[in-house]
Amino acid sequence: MKLDSDSTGSISASSTEEEVPASAGIDGSTPPLIPVPPPRLSPSGAGTFTQCPRRWKFRYIDRLEDPPGEDALAGSFAHRVLELLLQRQPEQRTIDEARLIARTEWPETEALSDYQALEHNEKESRRFRWKAWTAIEGLWDLEDPAEVKVRATEQDVEAELGGVPFRGIVDRIEEEGDGLIVTDYKSGKAPSPRFRRSRLDQVLLYAAAVEASTGEMPVRARLLYLGQRTIGMDVNREEIETVTEKLSDTWANINTACADDEFEPRTGPLCGWCPYVSMCPQGTAEVAKRANRKAAREAKLLAMAS
Ligand code: SF4
Repeated sequence: MKLDSDSTGSISASSTEEEVPASAGIDGSTPPLIPVPPPRLSPSGAGTFTQCPRRWKFRYIDRLEDPPGEDALAGSFAHRVLELLLQRQPEQRTIDEARLIARTEWPETEALSDYQALEHNEKESRRFRWKAWTAIEGLWDLEDPAEVKVRATEQDVEAELGGVPFRGIVDRIEEEGDGLIVTDYKSGKAPSPRFRRSRLDQVLLYAAAVEASTGEMPVRARLLYLGQRTIGMDVNREEIETVTEKLSDTWANINTACADDEFEPRTGPLCGWCPYVSMCPQGTAEVAKRANRKAAREAKLLAMAS
C-alpha cells in the first residue's frame, strides 16, 4: 500500500511503492548497525525525509510500524475501486458499476489487519464506507470516466532520475490529444493556492520517470482531489529538471545522514501526528509546548469573555 503523507500530516493511499533496505529490521528482525539507504527512493520516502530526517530514520532504517489511520485506509479502498473501474470498458465506467466493485472489494479491505485494528462497530463501519464512497463518487464531480483514454493504471515506474534510483506507482496514465497525462487521485483535502505548486512535485517526478522509462515525456501532470477540484500543470523540461534536482539533493542528504548516522529531529506542528513521538524527546517536548500555548490562549480568551 502506497501511503503518501502530505504536509498537513494527513495521508492518502493507493498502492505499494515504499522501499526499505533489504537488510533492515522488519517484523522484529534487527536493523543494520550502520544505516543503509533504501535501494530506491519513492516520493513518499523523499517527502518524509524532507519533513523530518528523524522520522524517516524511524520508518526506513529502524522499520518501525507506521500504521495507516482511518482516512488512509478509506483512501486506499477508494483508490482500489477507481483502479478497477478505469480498467473497465469506457461504457461500463458508471456509478452503478463503481458501487458493484465497491461491494465486491469491501470484504478484502474489511479483513485487513490494519482495518481490524480500528475496532469499528457497525455504525463506525458504515461511516467509514460512506467516507470512501464519497471519495469514489467524487470522481464524477471532476470528470466523466467514460471519456478517459486509459493507457495504464497503477503503473510501476522505476528510473534513474538525476542519479537517484527512483520508484513510484502512478495511479493513471492516459492519452489526451497527442500526449500523455500523468494523474494521481487524492482523497485528502485539496491544498490552498499557496501550496498547490509544491503538491505537484510528486506527479512531475512520475512524469520524469515515465519519460526516462518510455522515452515519451507526458504533456501534463495533475492531481484529482476527489469531490473537490483538479490541480495540474503542463510538463516541460525546466520543471522536470527542477524537481529532479530537488530529488537529487534529498538523496544526497539521505546518504550523508546514513554515513554520519545523524538524523536531525525537525520539530513542528506535524509532531502531533507523528507515530514515533513517544520515542522522540524533541517531538514530545514540541507537542507539550504547543499544548501549553493552546491552553494559555484558551484561558486568556475565557478571562476576556468573563
Ligand atoms: S516527533 Fe517530530 S521531531 Fe520527532 S520524529 Fe516525529 S516528526 Fe520528527
